[in-house]
Amino acid sequence: MSVNLALTRCCNQSCLHCYVNAGGARNEGNNELGLEDWIAVVKECRDQGYEHVHIFGGEPFLVSFLPDLCDAIDDCGMAYNIATNGCLLKPTDYGWLQNTGGSLVVSVFGGEKFHDAFTGAPQSYFRARETIRTCLARGVNASVATCLMRRNMEEYSSLIKEFADMGVEEFFVLHFSPIGRGEALFEEAIEPAMWYTFYLRLKQILPAIRQAVRHEVEILFELATYPTDNPATLHFTQEVMPCPLPRHLSLTIDWTGRVFPCILFLNNPSWALGILQHQPLEKILKELTFDWYNQHVKQNRCPSCRYYGKCQGGCPAYTLGMLRDFRCSDLKYLPFCPIRVIPV
Ligand code: SF4
Ligand code: SF4
Repeated sequence: MSVNLALTRCCNQSCLHCYVNAGGARNEGNNELGLEDWIAVVKECRDQGYEHVHIFGGEPFLVSFLPDLCDAIDDCGMAYNIATNGCLLKPTDYGWLQNTGGSLVVSVFGGEKFHDAFTGAPQSYFRARETIRTCLARGVNASVATCLMRRNMEEYSSLIKEFADMGVEEFFVLHFSPIGRGEALFEEAIEPAMWYTFYLRLKQILPAIRQAVRHEVEILFELATYPTDNPATLHFTQEVMPCPLPRHLSLTIDWTGRVFPCILFLNNPSWALGILQHQPLEKILKELTFDWYNQHVKQNRCPSCRYYGKCQGGCPAYTLGMLRDFRCSDLKYLPFCPIRVIPV
């Protein structure tokens, strides 16, 4: 099991879609947890059975104690990866990443012009690409993550070809969530039919990409939706999953020690299950049960629908204040958890 640690809300970029609404400089006065706090958090997570840590933000490489924290994670016998924009790594960072078995997931949104405009940071594409290149040369695992919206969907095939050509073996295709700053881009959300068709298209082009670059290439895709026209295939598999909140699969701890049931709730303090400075994680997790889910999430949704047993009303983070997931329109596609990935 993996736990998500949002190390900081601060960021050197201002990507238009950011669901964390991250930004601003990091300094000692902003009340974010320090190294000792985070090491205690990591140990609690390990004691609760978490084996993997996903570090994200904001931009984790703005946090001066990141190398020490990753050392501590490694000492705890846990694996980790870091989601980063790839712009702030120093030459010394590759050494500790390699020694502690860390891997990077670097965000790239499109070609150079698109990427720099989208992040609001000149040279960000160039820096991210150089970071990936250096990782590959230094034996640090680096994958490329791309959040796709209407405006950058067509950029994706050339993006994947460029980075696969460079030697990258793993790609994440992320479903855009109109949350945080992304709320203002609501019209950029790709409707389910188009998203599913895009998934099928990637399936088709992947063998040719593998053949061209002559190495393994894997695309992990946030499928998020599934057509209803073939009910025989519509069962709970790793492909389609209703909200896994009560299974603790998306547990997230933020920069102030608040514990959230899902990474997409970070902007809604009212969804925090507790604060680690006040309660041990063990106690907080005991409350995150199917009863909690039924009480806090299931009510007010669409139980009269014949597909309710399958999708359970879609994603709770997408339905806040609404009765129904915005992706559900004509019952031709069901809305499932938007952050579960499957290999294409
Ligand atoms: S369905 Fe939504 S709320 Fe539930 S785990 Fe997935 S993203 Fe989070
Ligand atoms: S989200 Fe749509 S498909 Fe799912 S139960 Fe509600 S109405 Fe039915």
